[in-house]
Amino acid sequence: MNLKIGIDLGSTAIKVAFINGENLIWRGLAATAPGQESIATRLIEEGYLALSLTASTSAVLAATGYGRNLFPDADLVVDEISANALGAFKRSNSKARNIINIGGQDMKIMWLSEAGRVLDFKMNDKCAAGTGRFFELAARILDTPLEDFSPLSSRAEEDIELNNTCIVFAESEIISLLARGIARESIIKALNASVARRVAALLGRDATGSLWLDGGPAQNQGLKEALEDELMMEIRTLPEPQYTVAYGAALALADKG
Ligand code: ADP
Repeated sequence: MNLKIGIDLGSTAIKVAFINGENLIWRGLAATAPGQESIATRLIEEGYLALSLTASTSAVLAATGYGRNLFPDADLVVDEISANALGAFKRSNSKARNIINIGGQDMKIMWLSEAGRVLDFKMNDKCAAGTGRFFELAARILDTPLEDFSPLSSRAEEDIELNNTCIVFAESEIISLLARGIARESIIKALNASVARRVAALLGRDATGSLWLDGGPAQNQGLKEALEDELMMEIRTLPEPQYTVAYGAALALADKG
């Protein structure tokens, strides 16, 4: 086995991807908390156990993400943009030209060449609006797990608009919508649309070539649909979108040789 491990120490979740060659053979995640190195190490041990590997199976490790320098045992440290581009390019069968990554606390857009090289990128990490944190806050107020956002938003009967994208004001707006008796399905649909508007503002210019979505919030199908409505383009979600960056970090080890 040619085992390579990518560790994405994200702002919200630590993701670990095991690859053999280019195949993703195991993945796992845990919430980001103090002691990130030991959380990542526990995830790696979990992977070894799940794959029935013994300590004699050696592996090379790459760290990426916001906390990438907090894992001193890494053989390679790679920036998130490069890891995301590598992972998304491979997972899209070399089709991705534009990638929208929505993370726990930021939002990024990357433009790739036909060979998968990063041509340009933009990032918004100044404001929680339009990030996973915004959805998490809404999930708490609506007392609804994030996993239920996709099916619920597709059942929305009313089109309402959230006027506040700022996380602080959106909180009181959601509370007052609930108090007015607006169904949570419609509120979730409005939340998706509000995040889609933020993404469109960051994208700024037309995307040429195929557009792909990844990051944890990409698991919400309603968000993808809201983005398609806002951008008037087809968008594809990468498989297991929360792991693209960890997978790409593992691939970067292969590139290293
Ligand atoms: P980071 O790399 O910044 O830690 P992630 O890409 O791991 O961010 O995304 C974390 C976010 O993913 C969370 O803030 C949450 O909003 C969202 N998320 C996680 N699981 C789901 C899910 N099943 N459905 C929708 N959103 C989810």
